[in-house]
Amino acid sequence: MLIVMLTSNLLMATVLWFAFAGRFRDGLAKWTTSLGVQALAWLMFAGRGHFSDLISITAANGLLALAWSLQFAAVIEFRRRPLPHWLLWAPTAATFVLFMLLLDHFQLRLIVSSGLFSAANVLLAAVLLRIPSHPNLRAHQLLAGCYLFVALALIARGIGAWLEPGAFSTTLTPNFLHSVLYLGSYALIVAGSLAFLLMHKERSDEETTRLATTDPLTGVFNRRTFIELAEQEFARARRTDTALSLMMLDLDHFKRVNDTYGHLVGDQVLVSFTNLLRDCVRRGDLVVRYGGEEFCVLLPATPLAAATALAERIRNATTSIPPTSLPFRITTSIGLTTYAGGEHTVLGDLLARADEALYRAKDEGRDRVIALSLIDRGTAEQGALPLENTG
Ligand code: GH3
Ligand code: MG
Ligand code: MG
Repeated sequence: MLIVMLTSNLLMATVLWFAFAGRFRDGLAKWTTSLGVQALAWLMFAGRGHFSDLISITAANGLLALAWSLQFAAVIEFRRRPLPHWLLWAPTAATFVLFMLLLDHFQLRLIVSSGLFSAANVLLAAVLLRIPSHPNLRAHQLLAGCYLFVALALIARGIGAWLEPGAFSTTLTPNFLHSVLYLGSYALIVAGSLAFLLMHKERSDEETTRLATTDPLTGVFNRRTFIELAEQEFARARRTDTALSLMMLDLDHFKRVNDTYGHLVGDQVLVSFTNLLRDCVRRGDLVVRYGGEEFCVLLPATPLAAATALAERIRNATTSIPPTSLPFRITTSIGLTTYAGGEHTVLGDLLARADEALYRAKDEGRDRVIALSLIDRGTAEQGALPLENTG
């Protein structure tokens, strides 16, 4: 069993090193090192009787503590939290001293070390379980499960050694509880390392998805994702025969902000404007940065009157977005339209009509809301519907 564990440790460490050398990050280097340290610890355990007790017991357990510290540090580094500097040496030093003191008290040593190592594993599992989880982010639960299993096996072994010292005359005496413990430790090497790798994969998948679907400056959806989601919302509106409004917003004379105060202030205004939009809309509404200083808001289940009222609220609030130190007010022009039923309409019609309304708002002097009712393709030939102007 020890040879199998030692080999697994070395194989896992080699695979990780091969895959990540030169680009170790977020705790992977510490995890890889911990596997190497553990391999050395098992080697020392295996040499019991050949090496002195100081090496095969005291140093070997010290190294196990060091491996635990490295894994704890790897998890903390993964969470991008500050690493307490004592974490790497204190547990090792304490274990070394404890095993020196208990070198001649085998049963007590087995019970105390089972309890301590078990508590250490529970602690690590607790730290892991504090990572927020959702369906795409749950590999840390697997790793926590591995630690908890080993913790339980250690407790069982401690109790066994207490109640039935004869069955635990050495740390390697073959019996059921030892089999469970060593198999659990083996599982922690293999499944735990895979789980730690999966934690990285899940995180990088999340980051890739976020980068691909949102705008980096403002964090709202980008145009491509918006079109996908808007198509779904539009299909739902048609199916359920509910109204759906679309708003297009363009900041007025934005070039002037950039030209006078520089792009950084311009960026700051864009972020503030996005926050304002987020604050004004409801949960199911979609906010998107459609282009440079142009935004879109899709409002499911919202008729024209409600959408117009919301647009007016946004227009009003825009005049007081930070930085308020600017000598002129930031204003926005808004064009909007509403789908209120109709067989032949497609999303493109809504976008085109909202765009038309926006340009009319610009033409008529900016800082205003123009709402246009949608022309259904099926009825377009019979004449356009009357236009509404709330600006
Ligand atoms: P209008 O009232 O007609 O909309 O005038 P405008 O100046 O807002 O419109 P125009 O299209 O002439 O200029 C848009 C400006 O938006 C020009 C560009 O530099 C700026 N812009 C686009 N994207 C960004 C960005 O990410 N950050 C900053 N700071 N400025 C941006
Ligand atoms: Mg503009
Ligand atoms: Mg523009």
